[in-house]
Amino acid sequence: MTTKEIRQSFLDFFKSKGHQIVPSAPIVVKNDPTLMFTNAGMNQFKDLFLGEAPIKHPRVADTQRCLRVSGKHNDLEEVGIDTYHHTMFEMLGNWSFGDYFKKEAIAWSWELLTEVYQIPKDQLYVSVFEGDEKEGLAKDQEAYDIWKQYIAEERIILGNKKDNFWEMGETGPCGPCSEIHVDMRPEAERRRIDGKTLVNNDDPQVIEIWNNVFMQFNRLKNGSLEKLPNQHVDTGMGLERLVRVIQQKASNYDTDVFQPLIQYIAQKSGIAYGKEEKTDIAMRVMADHIRAICFCIADGTLPSNNKAGYVIRRILRRAVRYSFTFLNFKEPFLNQLVPILADQFDGVFPELKQQQDFVQKVVLEEENSFLRTLATGIQRFERFDTSDKMIKGDFAFELYDTFGFPIDLTELMAREKGWTVDMQAFELELQQQKDRSRAATAIDTSDWIVVNPGDNVEFVGYDELETECRILRYRRV
Ligand code: ATP
Ligand code: MG
Ligand code: MG
Ligand code: MG
Repeated sequence: MTTKEIRQSFLDFFKSKGHQIVPSAPIVVKNDPTLMFTNAGMNQFKDLFLGEAPIKHPRVADTQRCLRVSGKHNDLEEVGIDTYHHTMFEMLGNWSFGDYFKKEAIAWSWELLTEVYQIPKDQLYVSVFEGDEKEGLAKDQEAYDIWKQYIAEERIILGNKKDNFWEMGETGPCGPCSEIHVDMRPEAERRRIDGKTLVNNDDPQVIEIWNNVFMQFNRLKNGSLEKLPNQHVDTGMGLERLVRVIQQKASNYDTDVFQPLIQYIAQKSGIAYGKEEKTDIAMRVMADHIRAICFCIADGTLPSNNKAGYVIRRILRRAVRYSFTFLNFKEPFLNQLVPILADQFDGVFPELKQQQDFVQKVVLEEENSFLRTLATGIQRFERFDTSDKMIKGDFAFELYDTFGFPIDLTELMAREKGWTVDMQAFELELQQQKDRSRAATAIDTSDWIVVNPGDNVEFVGYDELETECRILRYRRV
């Protein structure tokens, strides 16, 4: 099955179960001071769960473009290094607003995975909330008993509050959740599961694919829980992970989601994918980041120096740094990936195809600007003279901070001259800057950023900061 077919089967399946299929919300959230980017399928239904908007359809399904680069969900550092966390990804989801509950949600997720997608049953295992005495929360026996009808008990793992209890924020709807994991190791290597938690990051071939949240409580301001008058279901399944499982690949990047991009990058760089870890990571970073960049721009947020625009600029520069440093792209290149993506998402998220030329132009301008900054830094580097064959920490930091040099690049260039970099001093400078940037106003701990009235909100999702050198302005033509 291709990605297109897999996505469509999900939607068709839930349509056949009485769900209304709705479009994805934009990836950039407008008019909500508590959330910058859509990070889960349920974001657009927040008001329904809070009882602040009327429920038009009690059953809904969709595929939602999500971005996880800030706040509670910040996967950026994993991206490209591991094989299943992306910045932008599609979250397939089905919802019940006061309609069906655990029995149907579990039955349907099992039916879809094992009958429609034919994932071998002995590769699947599930997790259920074990309860939390301190919090006065009971084990989710109901979910456990339903799962027992489908899967051997030894494959039902009990999970703690951190992994198996979902809360919207400090207050509001919450409840236990049940995750579905896939173990793609060869049978002989599969660990026996003795009721012990085997989390997905224990092994890159064991990954979480689907989360079913059962909202049954409301957390009040005083911390206590009350039963919700209406119980809801909120599920989310990462499409790229699902595709990897169905297409039986060892990495999300080996699927037809990413291969067209990766193969193009490999061809243009003259370096084969799979040749070396460093260049592989760079290719994965580029293939991943361009998707985030494209959809943010297509959804109306351009790279800029503040808030969401700043996040996008940072992602774009991260991709350029990797391609410049490890793949030797010294000229703008990233923008060439835009048409490939626009074709891939044609008919799925048509927003991209409709604005393809505009998006490509913006990416090109940003690349040009950043590459010029890098070039200025390189000139500074060439003029730098050192008697002890060592790049001092403050200069390495200046290159990093003002000219956008990743420290890898400074090390590489130093090595070419037979020099080293004073990494300890560099780290110290970096730490001092982190401390400065931590003095920010937003407390960002839940799915929504808590902002105090009157706060001047600034993006603080990154642990590093960089000085911007140019402000670009855009106009739609
Ligand atoms: P993980 O533990 O792997 O980080 P998660 O528990 O943070 O995942 P959820 O918040 O439960 O993820 O989101 C629901 C589903 O979305 C996950 O089961 C997974 O399939 C997918 N997903 C989550 N984060 C990412 C990501 N960064 N890239 C791709 N898919 C993701
Ligand atoms: Mg996560
Ligand atoms: Mg998880
Ligand atoms: Mg999860």
